Amino acid sequence: MHFSIGIFIFAPDNSIFMKIFFRPYPLSLKHVFTVASFSRSTTPDVLLELHHDGLVGYGEASMPPYLGESIESVTAFLSKVDLSGFSDPMQTEEILRYVDGIAPGNCAAKAAVDIALHDLQGKIVGQPLYQTWGLDRSATPLTTYTIGIDTEDVVREKVREVEGLFGRLKIKVGVPGDHELVKAIRSVTDLPLTVDANQGWTDREKALDEINWLASEGCIMVEQPLPKTQLADIAWLTARSPLPIIADESVQRLSDLPRLADSFSGINIKLMKCTGLYEARQMVNEARRLGMKVMLGCMTETSCAVSAAAQLSPLADFADLDGNLLIANDPFEGMKIVGGRITLNDLPGIGIRPVADIQR
Ligand code: MG
Repeated sequence: MHFSIGIFIFAPDNSIFMKIFFRPYPLSLKHVFTVASFSRSTTPDVLLELHHDGLVGYGEASMPPYLGESIESVTAFLSKVDLSGFSDPMQTEEILRYVDGIAPGNCAAKAAVDIALHDLQGKIVGQPLYQTWGLDRSATPLTTYTIGIDTEDVVREKVREVEGLFGRLKIKVGVPGDHELVKAIRSVTDLPLTVDANQGWTDREKALDEINWLASEGCIMVEQPLPKTQLADIAWLTARSPLPIIADESVQRLSDLPRLADSFSGINIKLMKCTGLYEARQMVNEARRLGMKVMLGCMTETSCAVSAAAQLSPLADFADLDGNLLIANDPFEGMKIVGGRITLNDLPGIGIRPVADIQR
């Protein structure tokens, strides 16, 4: 399978330089996603292949509209990536420093190259990444499944559908109907809840009241309670909150961490925000050094990026890696969720294989 016609360039000794191929691959959502201002049934995505010496590493860029990247920006960036100057794919730092330096921003596009490079490296050594990194695959965390706001009967029905499949549920709060949602869920299950306010509360006293109530209802963690600009208020809240407060919108890359250490209990790392696995691993280490908790999240994306993030999951306290479950045309199979827990396989690299009957 080739995304486009490419010409391999052969070195004098006949070794093959690295070459990328990419193409847009719109993700079809299983359920139409609706917020107040719009609804959508697809998400823009670009699939990437990195070819080297007969092996193929897979990567992906998923572009939620709020991060400012698009099919056009990702393909424009990837068109500038020329890896023919590198003959050794194991030179992670040199290769990714070059990619990061091509232009600022473009984090999802950079993540596509990073993920494919890591997948290729795993295939070269014949090991899953978690094994290369010395991680214990029995230590993977439970991942959450998001329950949206709906009528009480629909919420109950959805919870009953997933109760045996997931060990933690996630809900959005800071929106009308959030209390009713919690009560509807609690009428059918005691499963722990994580909540994401997506910057939706603005007053710190009110946010603390809400968090105290949510804690009494069996919630175990809160994501981004207040706008990312209100760092002093978030620090005030974290100091008083009975639940860990995790940064999502407030954190993007490694360089953000030191200024957040006094304000949040932990950080939500997403490959599309932070340029991929190389920086994500550094963020995990830096978060631990700063005494912070680690969450791994994702966008709406295929099993490619989700399985890549899952390789790191034995290091995480919280995981929200359900993005591939939301799409109807996943071209890969990889990480599975078994009994609510992230379950890693033995495949080399990021642990995926193409699904034969999907036209990529
Ligand atoms: Mg979030």
